[in-house]
Amino acid sequence: MGYFEVQGLCKSFGGLKAVDNLTFSVEEKEIFAIIGPNGAGKSTLFNCINGLYKPERGSIKFRGKELIGMRSDQIANYGIARTFQNIELFSHMTTLDNIMLGRHKAMKSSVFSVMGLSFKKSKAAKEELVHRRKVEEIIDFLELESYRMQYVANLPYGKQKLVELGRALALEPDILLLDEPAAGLTQEEKDEMIFWIRDIRKLLGITVIFIEHNMQMVKKISDRILAINFGKKLTEGLPAEVLDHPEVIRAYLGEVVD
Ligand code: ADP
Ligand code: MG
Repeated sequence: MGYFEVQGLCKSFGGLKAVDNLTFSVEEKEIFAIIGPNGAGKSTLFNCINGLYKPERGSIKFRGKELIGMRSDQIANYGIARTFQNIELFSHMTTLDNIMLGRHKAMKSSVFSVMGLSFKKSKAAKEELVHRRKVEEIIDFLELESYRMQYVANLPYGKQKLVELGRALALEPDILLLDEPAAGLTQEEKDEMIFWIRDIRKLLGITVIFIEHNMQMVKKISDRILAINFGKKLTEGLPAEVLDHPEVIRAYLGEVVD
């Protein structure tokens, strides 16, 4: 049994096969990149993994458990967190509150279970404290202290991306899905993002599956790469093999890759 396994996955929109019989697997603590031209089906694949879309066929197994059929929040609580291609944060809320929201699911369930068992209120308060502490740890980890009480709308784009990353980390996931983490970042911010992703694996032990157009970043941090086009696998393997693969080069011809 593999750690994370996708098998024969299919997702269509009308007549369009956005994900077409895709099979691949990811090892625990791997940094695994998914590349492919625009419209290749990368985001659709993520939407299938985290339960936003229901695939017509195939299976997605994490630690042997089938994820297809589970709700998005159940998948999140089972250990898979994600960020989006376009940042999805509450811009009128602070950094702290946005990251706290990532904690929401865990918080709700634990507080409810505590109340359900009619423990003392102080126990729920203690739980709340644990969540706050965890959120502060993440703020420390991502060096966001100076942005803690600022509205997300007022932060530079690169910091907003970090807040989104922080919110995903607040779930304490085993697998992190990042949809184009370097998109829209300056060169300096891209270098920083590389550093964060490496640390997330090394210090937090999280498996990272990321979609990225920036080949420099893909080359620098991935252990393995899956290349797709028209929803199908082109090739899979080590960065040097995949990035020099003629089919991959052909698929990218005419695309602007930064
Ligand atoms: P990528 O992330 O690789 O750029 P997407 O997964 O976003 O590609 O899209 C793959 C294909 O599926 C595209 O042709 C896109 O237009 C189509 N698609 C994605 N989501 C939807 C949707 N919700 N409804 C209809 N078509 C969609
Ligand atoms: Mg996409």
